[in-house]
Amino acid sequence: MSDRLPTLFLGHGSPENAIADNTYTRSLNKLAEELPRPKAVLAVSAHYMTEGSALTSAEHPRTIHDFYGFPDELYAVEYPAPGDPELAADVAELLGGALDERWGFDHGAWSPMCHIWPDADVPTVELSIDLAQPAKAHYELGRKLAELPERGVLVLGSGNIVHNLRAIDWRHPDTGYDWCEEFDAAVWERLEARDDTALLDYDALPGGRQSVPTPDHYLPLLYAAAAAGVEARATTVYEGLEYGSLSMRCVRFD
Ligand code: ZN
Repeated sequence: MSDRLPTLFLGHGSPENAIADNTYTRSLNKLAEELPRPKAVLAVSAHYMTEGSALTSAEHPRTIHDFYGFPDELYAVEYPAPGDPELAADVAELLGGALDERWGFDHGAWSPMCHIWPDADVPTVELSIDLAQPAKAHYELGRKLAELPERGVLVLGSGNIVHNLRAIDWRHPDTGYDWCEEFDAAVWERLEARDDTALLDYDALPGGRQSVPTPDHYLPLLYAAAAAGVEARATTVYEGLEYGSLSMRCVRFD
């Protein structure tokens, strides 16, 4: 293989994972040991939504605590990774996106990243999602990012393959509903076969309508898959269903 970096799709789930020590966070620690050190990270977060594509361009992006009702300890977490205004400008040109000085790192980016790069020393840029665009348009944007892994930039999508907060059942922390399990398995089957076309039509997969009531947490997967190219192999780094309606599956594409 070349020096091309892998791309990643990380399930992030509850923001509390940032301060947790569990099988999921330990799988990210292990992933960190295996990954070559990137020059920079381009993170596509489910929690950064704009009209058109936007890229964080601050030199020192702020840590955003974009959640409510969690322990004080979680609000004290800072992820002071530097920005990379030059990379932001490059990607903005590549995608026809805008530069955004105001947004920083939301928990979609920092809650998993703090388990991979705990020293917060890898320059990081976030790329937003325009929810008005169909899945295919997101996939096409992801394809335009395919040159980044060659340049030492790690493309990281952060969301959840199954994410239905209305259906959350707190009594079942370690299992998923049948439709959650079916959809997570169906997506994995397509990923393993690298049948990306089927991933675009996620509503047509078993359990799709319930698993992806809104596409914000699903779409980062398409960026990671597309940026890797269809010849890349998908490997599951972690899998687990939580609270009935969340899939924590994490995938790397090499
Ligand atoms: Zn989220």
